[in-house]
Amino acid sequence: MTIQKSVRGMRDWWGTDVAHRRFIEQRGAEIAARYGVSWVETPLLEHQGVFIKTLGESSDVVGKEMYTLDDKGGDTLVLRPEGTAPVVRAFIEAGEQLPQKYIYTGPMFRYERPQRGRYRQFYQLGVEYFLRAPSVAMDVECIALAHHIITDIGISSYNLHLGTLGSREERMAYREHLVTFLEPYKNDLSEESQRRLASNPLRILDSKSPNDQALVAEAPRLMDYLQPESRQFFDDVCQGLTDLNIPYLVDNLIVRGLDYYGHTTFEFKAPDHLGSQDAFGGGGRYDGLMSSMGSKQDGCGIGWGLGLDRIMLILPPQTVHQAVTYVLSMGEDALCQRITQQLRHSGLACEMMLGDGNIGKKMQQAHKRGAAFTLVVGENERINQQVSVKNMQSSSAQDVSFGDLVGHLKDAQASV
Ligand code: AMP
Repeated sequence: MTIQKSVRGMRDWWGTDVAHRRFIEQRGAEIAARYGVSWVETPLLEHQGVFIKTLGESSDVVGKEMYTLDDKGGDTLVLRPEGTAPVVRAFIEAGEQLPQKYIYTGPMFRYERPQRGRYRQFYQLGVEYFLRAPSVAMDVECIALAHHIITDIGISSYNLHLGTLGSREERMAYREHLVTFLEPYKNDLSEESQRRLASNPLRILDSKSPNDQALVAEAPRLMDYLQPESRQFFDDVCQGLTDLNIPYLVDNLIVRGLDYYGHTTFEFKAPDHLGSQDAFGGGGRYDGLMSSMGSKQDGCGIGWGLGLDRIMLILPPQTVHQAVTYVLSMGEDALCQRITQQLRHSGLACEMMLGDGNIGKKMQQAHKRGAAFTLVVGENERINQQVSVKNMQSSSAQDVSFGDLVGHLKDAQASV
């Protein structure tokens, strides 16, 4: 039988990577709790209706990227490509009352062309704020929470790009001006943008083609088609971030690509580290989404998703660290097992080097596996009721009695 490979664009996760991802999720949740945000977990599968109308049929996600399947009962289901629409669906179904703030994490699925930082199963940490009416403070707090988490986990070199998509009417008016401007240059546009000129012209603004970008630089800007109220709102959000010392760049080319977005939009980018897939998070306001999904409450929302696969590419390497102690003996015996278990129950990370064999070889193995400390339990130690504790970094060794072992190791680990 041939060994099957994992599905293209989907990967296996191993030890340190899983620990890093969990670290981000855990720090994110701890910080979000300080903002009064509570957990929600939705299923991986949703009815396709949750996404089709809400994200928009002309969006890449709905048009090209959804994993759709028919189940045995004849329902058409979709592996969730994003988190916002499922959380809104869950909020409405549970009859929750406004206002609410939610955090969630887990895999999302999009049938995209895999490359560095782009997978078909990828992980997001997301937050959604639901309120009765638009509020500058809500937008500012939601963005501030993302900034708080990003900086807390050790990412310092990144840019927050901030833009506005205005209201639906303002976008429609702008869309016409944009098409009128681009139409004469149609043949100069990339193939993708030529298609988008008819279906979703705003997406041309975030085209990666240098030719398209040169044209777009000359194109009219949505900012200039905003009514005073929308413009003021955007200026107030900018001021709110400035007041909190959160740096941002105003970016007129943020489009986000899903129909439900309007007004405040933003992306977190690290171009120096991530290459062409430089956005490691993004989000925005979605005022009409709740009512379009059947909510009787007239609410609005704002949220973001941080891409954990990409964050892990820019996370400082030393972020997750646990000092591990290895217990070495000539054979596997009950005393070693008892010591190992006692240390684990005291909260210490500890591994027993299994198998027969000489202490020297076991010491080498422990060193290779990154041991912070080793405990040698030999004949002398048994007789004297003590173990030899070696600090692997300094190579210094010390005899410690069984009774003092936990306290000694805790003190020693705290200073690693
Ligand atoms: P989006 O929902 O498209 O705004 O994505 C939010 C964040 O999720 C992005 O900024 C990326 O960091 C991440 N992301 C989106 N699609 C992928 C993908 N195919 N692979 C890895 N990360 C992704």
